[in-house]
Amino acid sequence: MSPTKTATDGPRSPLMTARRIVVKVGSALLVDARSGHLKRAWLEALVEDLLRLRRRGQQVILVSSGAIALGRRHLKLAAGALRLEESQAAAAVGQIRLAHAYKELLEAHEVTVAQLLLTLEDSEQRRRYLNARATLESLLALGALPVINENDTVATAEIRYGDNDRLAARVAQMISADCLVLLSDIDGLYTADPNRAGDARFVEHVAHITPEIAAMAAGTASDFGSGGMATKIAAARIAVAAGCHMCIAAGEPRHPLKRIESGARCTWFLPASTPVAARKQWIAGTLRPAGAVRIDDGALRALDAGKSLLPAGVTGTLGHFERGDTVSVMSAGGLEVARGISAYSHADTARIMGRRSADIEQLLGFRGRVELIHRDNLVILARHEPAPAAGEAESAP
Ligand code: GLU
Repeated sequence: MSPTKTATDGPRSPLMTARRIVVKVGSALLVDARSGHLKRAWLEALVEDLLRLRRRGQQVILVSSGAIALGRRHLKLAAGALRLEESQAAAAVGQIRLAHAYKELLEAHEVTVAQLLLTLEDSEQRRRYLNARATLESLLALGALPVINENDTVATAEIRYGDNDRLAARVAQMISADCLVLLSDIDGLYTADPNRAGDARFVEHVAHITPEIAAMAAGTASDFGSGGMATKIAAARIAVAAGCHMCIAAGEPRHPLKRIESGARCTWFLPASTPVAARKQWIAGTLRPAGAVRIDDGALRALDAGKSLLPAGVTGTLGHFERGDTVSVMSAGGLEVARGISAYSHADTARIMGRRSADIEQLLGFRGRVELIHRDNLVILARHEPAPAAGEAESAP
């Protein structure tokens, strides 16, 4: 816990400074517990909040629950716990209604909505992870607003996120978001259950998720939705490790995001670094890079100057690596000078190395990335001798 009260307040709120924001809304906020209908007025206000962030130039991704809650009423399933196949049927019926509502509400403001239904494997298996990430990146670049839920109709008990708190954190990690907001039926983390312990204190900032913090979550119930405080802490672990701020805030009042910006009470989990730094740390820490690429001196100078690695500067490849694998970058002299995530497999790299990026499409038959390793995915390793400047004769020491 940190006493620095102003770190997340007012104009310095991560909600105002973030480039990419993931907002998660739970079923209890979206669906009226008595009628089983969508709370339309509430949702309209939320949409206004989201659009305000977008007008400020921020990218927004919504993770929305509510499919099962909406569908179960429509199918007239009895109250109480549902069997797996019942909740899958309910999700199938509810998701289409949910998507319809988002389409109507967002398109009224001329915003294109895109639906993504993810399963656990989409964030755990590298190839699927890369595909999901590429799709999200494209949607954001094209100005669409992605709305994400778990693909409940096909997810079975063993392969589920199970709750959208963790799903939202995985999404935040996947796209290097810098802020994740979990809108909940509780306004944040307390030292004990505020409904039971009179002396429960509110926790405004969490700088480290200590066992003490985890214990607080275990004692604080948030009864609606499948989440609860424990899954929110699990989500926080994922988010902060990825360099993303996370906030737990009350979603019930109208315009919950605006309220956070105006200083409404909420709990912020503070990351130790930024998403790019967290990613780089992870790359540098790769135990066994899958392969290597050798580069020329010109490329080495470009890397030292903070640029990306282009195929033109590559002179050879080593080992078997796939797109998305971490590879070592070796200097002409055979020194490992950097590490990074390759945008191409070893076979494709061998085809495009030494060539201009403009030729990639003709060489490979598809339009891939301009860079072999983008600078955000590249870490220069501990000091190495600077490459000789162009035209300078190489001489033995
Ligand atoms: N994916 C579920 C739904 O849409 C909700 C999971 C959760 O509440 O965390 O109904």
